[in-house]
Amino acid sequence: MFLVLSVCILGLLASQSDAQDRAALWRGNDRSGRCQYTFTVASPTETSCPQAGGPEFEGIKARLSLLEALVSKLTGGGNAPDARLQEALTRAVGERNLLQGEKERLERELGSLQRRSEEILRETERLRSRPCPPQTPSVSGGAPMRPAGGSSPVSHLMARPNRPGDSMSLRDSVWQQGFQELKAEVTEVPAPEEYTGCGVLVSVSAPVTHRKADSIAGKYGVWMQDPEAVAPYGPAMAWRIDTVGSDVRQLFGYEDMEQLSKGFPTKVVLLPEPLEGTGAVLYRGSLYYQRRRSRTLIRFDLASESVAARRDLPHAGFHGQFPYSWGGYTDIDLAVDERGLWAIYSTSKAKGAVVLSRLDPHDLRVTKSWETNIRKNSAANAFLVCGRLYTVASYGAANTTVNYVFDTESGRGRPLAVPFANKYRYNSMIDYNPAQKKLFAWDNFHMVSYDLRLGRPPAEA
Ligand code: CA
Repeated sequence: MFLVLSVCILGLLASQSDAQDRAALWRGNDRSGRCQYTFTVASPTETSCPQAGGPEFEGIKARLSLLEALVSKLTGGGNAPDARLQEALTRAVGERNLLQGEKERLERELGSLQRRSEEILRETERLRSRPCPPQTPSVSGGAPMRPAGGSSPVSHLMARPNRPGDSMSLRDSVWQQGFQELKAEVTEVPAPEEYTGCGVLVSVSAPVTHRKADSIAGKYGVWMQDPEAVAPYGPAMAWRIDTVGSDVRQLFGYEDMEQLSKGFPTKVVLLPEPLEGTGAVLYRGSLYYQRRRSRTLIRFDLASESVAARRDLPHAGFHGQFPYSWGGYTDIDLAVDERGLWAIYSTSKAKGAVVLSRLDPHDLRVTKSWETNIRKNSAANAFLVCGRLYTVASYGAANTTVNYVFDTESGRGRPLAVPFANKYRYNSMIDYNPAQKKLFAWDNFHMVSYDLRLGRPPAEA
């Protein structure tokens, strides 16, 4: 560009020099770009010129102006695309930042909606697993009430097609219903007086976790402390059996709960015969359990490490005939409470209904039996407190209920709804310890316990 400019200027200067010697025709553009012709003749006397400038000078000025304009255009105009690009880039970055912000906002909203959805599902599950309040409290021996999911008002709402605002209104209605039910429960709870006698179940605490099993053999299991311990083992000794497998015979003993939590057994006993299910109990220095693939009950004395008694439980189903709802060959469930040793099972004659028998802890004889209307395979588990049999509705729902009680004194049962949590969603064993007034449970590899609150029985109230 500067080379072109230099050539033009040199040309102009040469032209001007020639013009001083002879006549010359000059052609050039004026300021507005129009073609201008100029005829020049040398003057004999310089002073005769009427003007100092002249057409050549004007022509040069015009050309210079044009060149300046061209240079200005070329140099100044060269930055224009950069400036436009810069402006476009700035605008694009701004828009990208805006979109990024919008994306983050939408992601937050999605997360919030997912959390709400999970809350609704949990609430629905909880409400489904809760039985209806008893219609006729005086009716005896009714089956535990397990409302069908389809009849639930919540499931009706859930079945509606989605419409704008549905998530909020559904959540509100679910919470409203849950709140009303909780309010109703609260009004049913007796005054918070301390009751230390042998009472009825009022509430079950959240589970406390003591230990997680180390291997797959511990997905199901049974753990316990002897409520009436005898030498050489004291009441602090904790016992554990992992029950997954076909030859379950190892009984681990821990000095106390701390050692159980650490997983350091101080005693390992090999049982003479394998056991089945998760119904074993410890009572007065003996382990009571069901021998594998049989209705034979064994009393294993821990002090002498030998079988102290064995006896068939008359007509009891075994090995998958009448298990609890989760299976696991839980046909025969032994239990201990303030009144002694019990067996929870069923028979062909009872057609799958729970039969409850009180056992002589010395020789395992049945001393008395009750037949209930509870279907054994509809219950997740069962335990006894003060001569009353309680069933748990679900082994897998995080929030379920103790949904039925059968009183051996009156021979009558009734539904109830005491909240119960399966923290790890697969509860394979639940037993009561009358010395500690706690439930011991084995929930999906985890050894847990629950505190119980007992209240004054209705007859004494
Ligand atoms: Ca049990």
